[in-house]
Amino acid sequence: MSTPWRFPDYDAHEVLHFVHDQASGLRAIIAIHSTHLGPAAGGARFWHYADDAEALTDALRLSRGMSYKNAMAGLPLGGGKSVILADEARTKTPELLAAFGRAVDGLGGRYVTAEDVGMSVTDMIEVSRQTKYVAGLPAEGGEVGGDPGPHTSLGVFLGLKAAVRHKLGKDNVAGLHIALQGAGSVASGVALHAAAEGAKLSIADIDPAKAKKLADATGGAIVAPQDILGLEADVLSPNALGGIFDATTIAALKVPIIAGGANNQLATLEDGARLHARGILYAPDYVTNAGGIINVCTEYLDDGDENLVRQRIEAIPGKLEQIWAESEASGRDPAAVADAMAQRLIGRG
Ligand code: NAD
Repeated sequence: MSTPWRFPDYDAHEVLHFVHDQASGLRAIIAIHSTHLGPAAGGARFWHYADDAEALTDALRLSRGMSYKNAMAGLPLGGGKSVILADEARTKTPELLAAFGRAVDGLGGRYVTAEDVGMSVTDMIEVSRQTKYVAGLPAEGGEVGGDPGPHTSLGVFLGLKAAVRHKLGKDNVAGLHIALQGAGSVASGVALHAAAEGAKLSIADIDPAKAKKLADATGGAIVAPQDILGLEADVLSPNALGGIFDATTIAALKVPIIAGGANNQLATLEDGARLHARGILYAPDYVTNAGGIINVCTEYLDDGDENLVRQRIEAIPGKLEQIWAESEASGRDPAAVADAMAQRLIGRG
């Protein structure tokens, strides 16, 4: 497809909004990749970027990932994402969140926001004072809602187990060594599920306090952040930030399986092929980490209960099996197979 914009990672995004609110200092980018299947849904990331180009790249890649994720999870949602450009001190004020909420509201429901890295349920409450196009709000009286993190963790753990079954022929993770990058919301849930099943964990986070807290809770060992990707283990589960697998890191990997919740783990499309060439089984990130958006979708559309959420999350392993089967039949790597499936679903195949 010829492209009218030459930003790296521009992928026929429907619209990009560059938001500035002078009074609160808010600077944000809201990227709407596709509304083919429904309103563009995807969380808001609050992050300090080295420069504006890095923020734009994140918004472009994350919003495309949301289109693919929502489509592959069978949700009636398109894909979008927002990034809020934090200052170095990561100053987050109610005024800034309110300005973000007004920006979301101004899009009239074409974009629906929720939590992502750096944003909490409390932040979403602040945003919801300005707009109804928000999910990830506290659940009341058995309603679906709240922090999507635990639902993401459950889906990631089920996806990780599917990969273990597929590659190692084991039905559980007892006695396996799992290397976790990140000790935040998603990683913590994955670690607790895995520890409960008897896995041995190695944990790395750039925030030593988070790494220690999770290691203490799971009996895991702490590993330096720079060592986690090269650790010898049965599974590497990336649950921090994206762009971590490139020619250099892939050459140094000592694991047969990668299954984690971080978005955009592959630096480029070629890196999916590189993993494949090394015989490493990759669980495509946006299929594996759909649990959170599944919960958000059910909350936002109010179209089901916790059982429906659970059912949709439990479908993640089957979707991964389908991708791996097609990969084996075609010789294409799982990331490329997943992209092709997703593109067909959003009418771009
Ligand atoms: P979080 O902010 O709770 O945790 C991220 C953790 O990663 C933090 O503790 C941070 O210190 C750590 N980290 C950052 N860079 C690191 C590095 N180089 N090495 C080691 N640790 C590092 O965020 P989260 O909600 O757990 O999200 C984690 C990932 O999962 C993100 O990529 C996010 O986009 C993705 N994801 C999250 C959800 C969700 O429901 N929260 C859903 C889908 C995908």
